[in-house]
Amino acid sequence: MIGAGIVGITTAAYLRRDGHDVTVVTMHPPGEYCSFGNAGMLNPSSCVPQAMPGVLAKVPGYLSDPLGPLTIRPSYLVKALPWFVRFVLNAKERQVEHAADALRALIKPPVECYEDLARRAACSDLVRRSPYLVAYESEQGFRADARAWNLRRERGVETQEVDAARIRELVPQLAPIYVRGRLVPDQGYVANPERLTKALAAQLEKDGGTILKRKVLDIELGEGGVKALRTDAGRVPVETLIVCGGVHSGELSAMLGERVPLEAERGYHVTYSDPGLQLPMPVSLSDAKLFVTPMEMGVRIAGQAEFAGIYAEPNYQRAEVLERHMKRMFPGVHSADKTQWMGRRPSTPDSLPVIGPSAQQANVYYAFGHGHIGLCAGAPTGRLIADLVAGRKPGIDLAPYRVDRF
Ligand SMILES: Cc1cc2nc3c(=O)[nH]c(=O)nc-3n(C[C@H](O)[C@H](O)[C@H](O)COP(=O)(O)OP(=O)(O)OC[C@H]3O[C@@H](n4cnc5c(N)ncnc54)[C@H](O)[C@@H]3O)c2cc1C
Repeated sequence: MIGAGIVGITTAAYLRRDGHDVTVVTMHPPGEYCSFGNAGMLNPSSCVPQAMPGVLAKVPGYLSDPLGPLTIRPSYLVKALPWFVRFVLNAKERQVEHAADALRALIKPPVECYEDLARRAACSDLVRRSPYLVAYESEQGFRADARAWNLRRERGVETQEVDAARIRELVPQLAPIYVRGRLVPDQGYVANPERLTKALAAQLEKDGGTILKRKVLDIELGEGGVKALRTDAGRVPVETLIVCGGVHSGELSAMLGERVPLEAERGYHVTYSDPGLQLPMPVSLSDAKLFVTPMEMGVRIAGQAEFAGIYAEPNYQRAEVLERHMKRMFPGVHSADKTQWMGRRPSTPDSLPVIGPSAQQANVYYAFGHGHIGLCAGAPTGRLIADLVAGRKPGIDLAPYRVDRF
């Protein structure tokens, strides 16, 4: 396998459970790439694709707003243009319905999957059942989100509309500027995504799996598919290969003869280690596309989508934007002790991951491209891959996630 992010490690855990010999090759230690710093949300309600009808009209507003959720580095615009064109083409009603169905099917059971894996890895404290609150500063913002909430409702997601008074009861330290909201029950979150991935990786090794810290430079092909990985520390023979390389999976699939449009949708977080807040549940601002989540190491605000390619240096002004949101949301937050971070979401233009067999190589499976929902969909993806490798019928139709759909 390639990759020790949350997708790779949960996939490895399920494969090992089935009795396979599992070797994970990773260039970063487990949980130290994109899976390090996400918002921790396990929200089966997040079945709304990124490309929604009207998205193109919103882009100028996002780009010109200094507190907006989107930035595109001018030097990267031309490179990203083909991906953006595909993204916009996916914002059509039919495709949106299709993507919402496929996302909902994939992420229906995330909390249960993680509770089960975490119990075995002795880190049950990290997986917490909780509702979350989505808050709106204006009636107009609330109404503008109606289509997204309808998509969720039509797929069985139950929510409660809440007014300003109820918002204050639910999250008393939130600034009294929010007039409408939605409470989403039956969700969950992970109180430290890095520690969860590391604990599952340690359990994998205890259970007999192997983790090799190496970079895959090339993939050796032969009759019947992949023969070996060529790494910076020698050759690793392969019987069956699972590609869970996060944002680098496009480079890896190209080595296997399959082109996948994958972009680095770079997000940021700020974690406050002594925030002086008692946050009873995660809070999201839909307009700003961010989450504030209670973590075991404090409180984290996470969001932003920056298009600058995989390899550009972080621009921590984007994290400062999150800090400004945080001060507006929680004016009493103590900000003396905080850390900033940038991570690369592996994003496809249709908001759906690639899950399933290669169309080119007989012994290869893909599990990547989870964009905004890689934690939530990581363990469910791992279960599906284990089913495929074992020859069991997967619990859902995998056609929407096929690698050759692009
Ligand atoms: C700010 C932010 C907030 C987010 N919030 C949430 C959230 O609340 N809920 C949610 O579900 N998702 C969230 N996400 C998305 C989620 O974090 C990602 O989708 C997920 O971490 C992707 O996991 P992964 O295992 O695919 O990739 P990664 O964690 O990036 O792991 C990729 C692995 O592949 C390895 N690799 C790649 N190429 C090679 C190579 N050539 N050789 C060897 N190893 C290689 C890397 O070393 C690494 O181990 C958020 C993301 C960001 C940035």
